Amino acid sequence: IEPVHVVGGGLAGSEASWQIAQAGVPVVLHEMRPVRGTDAHKTEGLAELVCSNSFRSDDAETNAVGVLHAEMRLANSLIMASGDANQVPAGGALAVDRDGFSDAVTARLEAHPLITIVREEVSGLPPVEWGKTIIATGPLTAPSLAEAIAAETGADALAFFDAIAPIVHFDTIDMDVAWFQSRYDKVGPGGTGKDYINCPMDKEQYDGFIAALLEGGKTEFKQWEGTPYFDGCLPIEVMAERGPETLRHGPMKPMGLTNAHNPSVKAYAVVQLRQDNALGTLYNMVGFQTKLKHGEQVRIFRTIPGLENADFARLGGLHRNTYINSPTLLDNSLQLKSRLGLRFAGQITGCEGYVESAAIGLLAGRFAAAESLGQSISLPPATTAFGSLLGHITGGHITSDDEPGKRSFQPMNINFGLFPPLEPGTKLRPDGFEGRFRGKDKSIAKKKAMSARALADCRAWLGGMPRAEAAE
Ligand code: FAD
Repeated sequence: IEPVHVVGGGLAGSEASWQIAQAGVPVVLHEMRPVRGTDAHKTEGLAELVCSNSFRSDDAETNAVGVLHAEMRLANSLIMASGDANQVPAGGALAVDRDGFSDAVTARLEAHPLITIVREEVSGLPPVEWGKTIIATGPLTAPSLAEAIAAETGADALAFFDAIAPIVHFDTIDMDVAWFQSRYDKVGPGGTGKDYINCPMDKEQYDGFIAALLEGGKTEFKQWEGTPYFDGCLPIEVMAERGPETLRHGPMKPMGLTNAHNPSVKAYAVVQLRQDNALGTLYNMVGFQTKLKHGEQVRIFRTIPGLENADFARLGGLHRNTYINSPTLLDNSLQLKSRLGLRFAGQITGCEGYVESAAIGLLAGRFAAAESLGQSISLPPATTAFGSLLGHITGGHITSDDEPGKRSFQPMNINFGLFPPLEPGTKLRPDGFEGRFRGKDKSIAKKKAMSARALADCRAWLGGMPRAEAAE
């Protein structure tokens, strides 16, 4: 069998390579690091996490990304197996030791007899002679390839801004001021209910902090003016510009937290830090993506109570993300309509997030492997998280006159809004209770029903079990 070529060994390319090889098809994986770097990657490891170390919620009952985790585990995902094996405590979230995780992915791919890893930049569109190819070069695709893709697709370049948050050395945090506690003492997998470090602020400190953010020197991005921010990853100073209370209702919300040093005084706002490595020596500032100049970050963040002497292992920064207009350019198995056999995967297709990128890599890998083996491609059911995400990328955005892709296409995290609604008459109470749910209870019950449907249909799709059995 001819090998499938995968360009880019990030979250998507690593997962795609694994899936193809596990199907018995050889793979050549082309990764440009360390020959050429990106603005955000720091290592030469495959599947490097460039910012947060979190795969977000692991709750497969009421959270859409948790459902995606579960489906990926069912599909033998390398990214999930390596994440699970390198977990660090993070409340209800799945967070990982970033180096341990990347080392595990790299080692498994390097050891696979069907995978050849070539460290080189693919500087234009992959040659047609390569045959089946997957481009998974991510939001920071090297410029010459990005230009070649734009030339091939003829599409307007699409882009948005993404920002990263600073990381602090634990031993420089003043734990006489800060305290360990998860919001509402939530105990997640491997957690204790004390997984976050919390730094309290009173009203005066908060107001001063907001003023400093607004006044602080920012990095200018003149040539990219007009590029929108991804809403889930807004820089803190942009949130502050939206109103003085925005941060207090966002990443700095004080709810569910009690100051262990002073339980009777409720904090007005709280800065949270989450463990970033297995050793517990590094903590990242949750939701603190920023484009403040580096010197300004140190000055302003050291006004946060508990961080007066903080040493930063990495400061925040802002990057431009590139993606293609997938709904018009790709068919439903992620193939470029103008060049069959060439697929795209990962964030460049217009999904957002580590887990989503890996999930699309998983699907692209399975589709390419099936074709190589002469099998027909089986698309995941629309009711699954896989199918919902794929639908957003390749078929979503149907306008009233049913023209795919006519509306503006925006990168998106997986969410229940992408899942098809429940069938009319779906019983929300499996226990047979006939009464009605109301308000929040109803929305949770709906999510549970959607999650159960997704996982049952995913099992059936993967050929594990017939649907009726899987639903039990
Ligand atoms: P990547 O993981 O970036 O992998 C692409 C790979 O392709 C890289 O290894 C790169 O070196 C290689 N490559 C690029 N061009 C070439 C070429 N021409 N030839 C050969 N190799 C090439 N998501 C989250 O869930 N949480 C976050 O906190 C988060 N923060 C982010 C911060 C920033 C600054 C950015 C840019 C993105 C962030 N994302 C985050 C979004 C996204 O989930 C990640 O970027 C994710 O890594 C995307 O996976 P991917 O496989 O598509 O791309």
